[in-house]
Amino acid sequence: MDTLPGGYWDGSNCQKRFNFRELTGQLELDLADAVTGMGRNPNSAPVLVTSVLSKALDNIDGKPATKEIVHDLSVPDRQYLMRKLAILLGYDTAWFSKDCSSCAERFDFQITYSDLPVFPAKEGYPYVIVNTKHGKQKFRVPTGADQEAILKVGNDIDSETALLRLCYVPEKQGHVSEELGYVPEKFGRASEKARHVSHVSDDELEFSEKDTAKIGAALEEVSPSVITNINAGCPECGESHQIRLDPYFLLEKNIGSQLLNDIHTIAQSYHWNEKEILALSKQRREIYLDLIEQDSIARE
Ligand SMILES: [Zn+2]
Repeated sequence: MDTLPGGYWDGSNCQKRFNFRELTGQLELDLADAVTGMGRNPNSAPVLVTSVLSKALDNIDGKPATKEIVHDLSVPDRQYLMRKLAILLGYDTAWFSKDCSSCAERFDFQITYSDLPVFPAKEGYPYVIVNTKHGKQKFRVPTGADQEAILKVGNDIDSETALLRLCYVPEKQGHVSEELGYVPEKFGRASEKARHVSHVSDDELEFSEKDTAKIGAALEEVSPSVITNINAGCPECGESHQIRLDPYFLLEKNIGSQLLNDIHTIAQSYHWNEKEILALSKQRREIYLDLIEQDSIARE
């Protein structure tokens, strides 16, 4: 059992506890299919994240982690889960290279993701109340569903405005705006209609630039977060460089690339069939591979 830094808001409670499914070879294959099955369009990241997480997660607070629930998790929780899953799949350490802009030397450095801090949500999450030109208004932290909705908007509206409109929570429950559709009180339960935001021109939802900045800052304040930028000092001249860490780097990995080799090695030694080997947990598979290697060293 692990806990989300934010939590899934079901309308009255924030559900924080979650479990991934047991990491078997079969699950690794399913995850590999989820990543490669949709092509490499960089805009499809939110869709891929939903697909990967709904395969990998077993439950959130004891309830099945359906695709709908995964859609409606906040963006930082989804980032946290993707990084956590990458660590479980064996991608905990990574090497980065940087060309120093100050001394022109190239340097390498290593990151261990499980050592990076995670900041939990603050009081009030997933909502904030901000004093805008329309008086005090309520907003909620963006979800995966919001990100997917914005992808569909295209160039009709800038994404920040669209996101703000999706995350606006009208005071009256069930408020229907002609253009925006139904925007419910319940966090993340936006109806399909509400996800069509392409032709919004509701004056009620126009916020000034100053308001937009205030709302963004308030949401950031209450949101949980994983580290997405780190500073690395150049060992030659000491210059500090900011490096971006993609929270969804798992989408770039060739998950399961080693799996067929592992199946081959285990099948040769134990004569189990593919299905039996795929049912082994990753941990158990690695133990057998170690034993096989020890045997082969002993025979040499
Ligand atoms: Zn340098």
